[in-house]
Amino acid sequence: MCFERIIFWDIDGTLMHCGNDGTKALNLAFAELFQIEDALTGVKVGSVMDYTLVNRVFAKHGISEDRLEEVKLRYIENLKRILSANHTKRVLPGVIELLDLVQQTGTAVNALLTSNFKVGAMAKLASVGLADYFEIGAFGDAPGEKWHSAEDCLAGLSSAWGRLIDGSDAVLIGDGGYDIECAKRIGMRSIAVATGWTAPDILQELNPDHYFSDLRNTERVRRILNI
Ligand SMILES: [Mg+2]
Repeated sequence: MCFERIIFWDIDGTLMHCGNDGTKALNLAFAELFQIEDALTGVKVGSVMDYTLVNRVFAKHGISEDRLEEVKLRYIENLKRILSANHTKRVLPGVIELLDLVQQTGTAVNALLTSNFKVGAMAKLASVGLADYFEIGAFGDAPGEKWHSAEDCLAGLSSAWGRLIDGSDAVLIGDGGYDIECAKRIGMRSIAVATGWTAPDILQELNPDHYFSDLRNTERVRRILNI
């Protein structure tokens, strides 16, 4: 199926909150496999793709990059268990209404644009009932930055849909500076939402195309998304 527009969603702090369950699950994987406690402490965790994050830990401790799949497997087992025990995880305001509105258009499609490994992304979404909204996405499984992953995703859609799809065909909704930077780098419009960890004034200073404190005013967001 082809669409005119892609609505890219960040996950953590934008679609949902699950605290720092991802960090906990990855720290536990490193503790179990390599007896390294708090592996992510002292490694830059924000604004970085999961692939890069894990490789930074590998480099710091002299672990072979060949162990990546093993780490991912242990991470996802831990994450699913931690998420199921987290009773404060939640979908953020307005999100389900907007996902439904996009889905109903037939001209736009919901897609993921996240730093998470794909397995982690889907586990987080499944834990709050959002997984079925997404068949398209860009994830943190390869070297590079968020905008490289977004470009790869758009290139894949170009092939699948038989026409050139680029940033001008997409809008990004995200809660962090990394999201806004990603949108600017590939010519996407950006909607910043202050439901994550970035302070509202800092988010606004980054000059997103649109800014919301949260997405509960779905009518306003709908107009911006042109759906
Ligand atoms: Mg986020």
